[in-house]
Amino acid sequence: MRLILLGPPGSGKGTQAERLVLKKNIPQLSTGNMLRSAVSAGTEVGQHIKTIMDSGDLVSDDVVNAAVFDRIDQPDCVNGFILDGYPRTLVQAAAVEEMLAKKNIILDAAVELSVDDNAMVERIEGRYACSSCGEVYHETLKKPRIRGVCDKCRGVNFKHRPDDNAKAMSRRLQIYYKETSPLIGYYYAKKKLKIIDGMGEPDTVEKEIANALHIQ
Ligand code: AMP
Repeated sequence: MRLILLGPPGSGKGTQAERLVLKKNIPQLSTGNMLRSAVSAGTEVGQHIKTIMDSGDLVSDDVVNAAVFDRIDQPDCVNGFILDGYPRTLVQAAAVEEMLAKKNIILDAAVELSVDDNAMVERIEGRYACSSCGEVYHETLKKPRIRGVCDKCRGVNFKHRPDDNAKAMSRRLQIYYKETSPLIGYYYAKKKLKIIDGMGEPDTVEKEIANALHIQ
């Protein structure tokens, strides 16, 4: 199964991608995570990318397309993948479509998680992650089972993303509506679009996605 998860920051793409990974046994290709790894490598390019990400702007289409194309060529993607946070522009959408067409790979669906702006801001502002394994938590919506201890790896250090602040958030939303929301029409026209209400509990959203995609 080849899927695209669309939705503004804080709409739950990462959470739902992780659930789909477990269900379908295919990898989550998160361009945000790929770019954060490039930043952690500490190279000059990484430093440049970090400045863009911290401001809430988009990294250039060429850089992101190259990273995704490379990743799709890895052996663990032969049975499918979930694109999380990509494509984010019409240029990226056209580029990945062309790349997949050359490989005779058909995209199954683009799932849009629709949420309201206030909920997104709340979700983003309370979000933090384990410094060791990256598991994502929320101050009220998803706390670790034991306070201060990561459920997944038992790590005790946590961090906020540098772009999860009010200024970058407003820029990310602006960019979402300007650059990314046209993809909704793009995939609708291609009869690939599934619109899911992303405002419910993660379990409910997961079930709605499963129903829409006819998976267990
Ligand atoms: P995310 O983790 O998906 O919220 O992405 C975090 C940041 O990484 C975004 O605000 C962008 O700066 C950058 N980024 C992630 N995916 C893309 C993409 N497909 N195109 C351009 N920039 C991206």
